[in-house]
Amino acid sequence: MRDATDVFVVGGGPAGLAAAIAARHRGLRVVVADGAEPPIDKACGEGLMPDGLAALERLGLELPAADAFPFRGIRFLSAKLAADAQFPDGGRGLAVRRPTLHRFLIERAQQMGAELMWRTSVGGISPEGVRVGNRTVRARWIVGADGAYSRVRTWAALEPCFRPRLRYAFRRHYRVVPWTDYMEVHWGQSCQGYATAVGQDQVCVALASNDRNLRVQDGLRSLPWLSARLRGAATVSAERGAITGNRRLKRVWQGKVALIGDASGTVDAITGEGLGLSFRQALALADSLESGNLATYQREHRRLMLRPLQMARLMLLLDRRPRLQRRTLEAFRQHPQIFRRLLALHLGEMPTPQLVWDGLTLGWGLLTA
Ligand SMILES: Cc1cc2nc3c(=O)[nH]c(=O)nc-3n(C[C@H](O)[C@H](O)[C@H](O)COP(=O)(O)OP(=O)(O)OC[C@H]3O[C@@H](n4cnc5c(N)ncnc54)[C@H](O)[C@@H]3O)c2cc1C
Repeated sequence: MRDATDVFVVGGGPAGLAAAIAARHRGLRVVVADGAEPPIDKACGEGLMPDGLAALERLGLELPAADAFPFRGIRFLSAKLAADAQFPDGGRGLAVRRPTLHRFLIERAQQMGAELMWRTSVGGISPEGVRVGNRTVRARWIVGADGAYSRVRTWAALEPCFRPRLRYAFRRHYRVVPWTDYMEVHWGQSCQGYATAVGQDQVCVALASNDRNLRVQDGLRSLPWLSARLRGAATVSAERGAITGNRRLKRVWQGKVALIGDASGTVDAITGEGLGLSFRQALALADSLESGNLATYQREHRRLMLRPLQMARLMLLLDRRPRLQRRTLEAFRQHPQIFRRLLALHLGEMPTPQLVWDGLTLGWGLLTA
């Protein structure tokens, strides 16, 4: 291990590796340390939206077709209704198993010359650098990419300032031939199920609810379409849980420390945007590290979080409101162009005056459906 580096990244998950790759693109020396051993798995819906893929490409990474499964839009389903919208301009998302994505990010970071240390927990930070075991690695910049329960955030006194509404999520994989090329969101009375095909014979199912005891198998009982698809299918992964929700921070940097990924705030899993957001943050952070001005990262970070946070809030209005779910899906079926434009907005397309009209049409649809 080096004694000194330009950037020390604490956490080698998707956000940390993306930060390392982007910083190497700027010629900075980078060390990454992670307490776990790769490839790291995690509870995740495993879908990358087109905007997330675009950011990944800017990091120099294109996922090979053999290791990822494409989807062409989002489908909402409730007990009796379904409505879908394709991504704009024939765009596509990709679903990829977390350990596979992790492997590709590691390969790219190594190719770019980042020094990666696994099974290496960081014990603290100081004005000089980062404490690893009984030694300190001097670092010009410290990047906290250590996930939603970031210790770097605590050490740098950058705690979340807004009380988040948190939900409980679990994920599992089923051996079944994919029945759809959409990422599906199944709306139940008290939970949502997300189904994403991740291979020729495998579908990832994640479930989010307000009930910490609700496991995937229990939740499926209230999602008739999804449970019918999975009937008789063998489970091929252990169930993994995580907490999800919108968590915002007032500040994402302090002195020489900057936060990225879930350490810097989260958006609810319903958006399918956490990974893409991390990749975009990594590009913004590298700009700021290069210019030596983390205040610009703060501004860009806030701008990047805004849209996914707003979309999460909008979508969560439907949570535990079966009547509103039914009316919304009915309105989307009657006005498919509105669903398409909302999806485009979700992916970062600028709002147009058309959206005002869409809002009025949707409002009327909700009242009359
Ligand atoms: C149920 C669910 C479904 C989701 N679905 C999607 C989806 O479909 N699409 C999407 O884009 N996003 C999705 N997300 C969000 C996405 O999973 C996260 O945004 C993403 O994992 C964040 O990556 P990260 O690198 O910030 O954190 P993590 O993946 O948590 O990585 C943090 C790393 O830091 C390491 N670490 C922690 N402390 C230390 C320490 N002291 N020293 C060294 N290492 C340390 C850990 O070992 C870990 O490897 C979902 C989230 C949930 C909960």
